[in-house]
Amino acid sequence: MKNFISIIIPLYNEEKNVPALIEELFEILEPRDFTFEIIFVDDGSRDNTFDVVKRAASKDSRIKCVRFRRNFGQTIAIKAGIDLAEGDTCITMDGDMQHDPKDIPELMDKINAGYDLVCGFRNKRLDGFLRRFPSKIANFMARKFSRLNIRDFGSTYRAYRTSLIKQMPVYGEMHRFIPIFVAMTTDRITEIPISIRPRMHGKSNYGLARTFKVLSDLLLVIFFAGFFTRPIHIFGYFSSVLFLPGFFILAWLSVAKIFWNIAIMDYGPLFVLGILLCLVALQLFTTGVVCEYLVRIYYGNDKRQPYS
Ligand code: UDP
Ligand code: MG
Repeated sequence: MKNFISIIIPLYNEEKNVPALIEELFEILEPRDFTFEIIFVDDGSRDNTFDVVKRAASKDSRIKCVRFRRNFGQTIAIKAGIDLAEGDTCITMDGDMQHDPKDIPELMDKINAGYDLVCGFRNKRLDGFLRRFPSKIANFMARKFSRLNIRDFGSTYRAYRTSLIKQMPVYGEMHRFIPIFVAMTTDRITEIPISIRPRMHGKSNYGLARTFKVLSDLLLVIFFAGFFTRPIHIFGYFSSVLFLPGFFILAWLSVAKIFWNIAIMDYGPLFVLGILLCLVALQLFTTGVVCEYLVRIYYGNDKRQPYS
């Protein structure tokens, strides 16, 4: 079966990059006889990005564009592209020419070989130490705590089987971590080296400030990926850790009262501690059960697509 590829490109103030990018994309895609659509999401640009894209779209129906009323950020822009995508493969890439369309055929080769997700990893980063170092930490943590062993969570040049990402809950700075969600549903994930080119026009939208946002989103994603499907596993774990000592304290005090007639109130603080531990454990357990129930309603079994 022939692939229908949706190429999703978020744009924020990229008027100077768009024409050349479109030219390069067509140079790569047309001779290969790919069926494709290019979805540009203008993330509230303050320059003429949208006019440039619209002009191109009026000339070729394979170019599609939508525009946000304000700047929502790259993640939301990518999400909008995914929502609109009609292809069975989605390729996400940057609109600043840093990602080279030349890598698309190799991404598609892997998809056609049966992989559900192909991640590009940057062999040689062009960024300075202040951007590379936090990204090294984030990559290390993401690898450690998710069940996904890829080199580069920071690069957004990737190809996804569309059906696996349509429903995905992404917001904040989470687009980097979409693979962690994907890994919840499939093991068919691989990576290829991609070339990164310097930005010729416009400027990078990210500085050091985003590091903390990225790290907190990473923690959230790890929590979701690890426990979202089975919340009782984490709530139940902490619940038992607290319940056991609480139970033994209360049991021992009861035995002491019954057999040796020792007044429980002689051990007031211990008694309070026992009650507290048991109550908190009960609360955690109840929360776990409620979360588990909500996950059942939201997640069901059907969205995980266990079959290919
Ligand atoms: N971008 C966006 N909304 C934003 C910031 C960035 O759509 O609020 C787009 C931007 O136009 C580019 C891509 O996301 O196509 C990557 O952004 P950038 O080049 O600034 O990131 P960097 O390469 O420096 O990590
Ligand atoms: Mg860039």
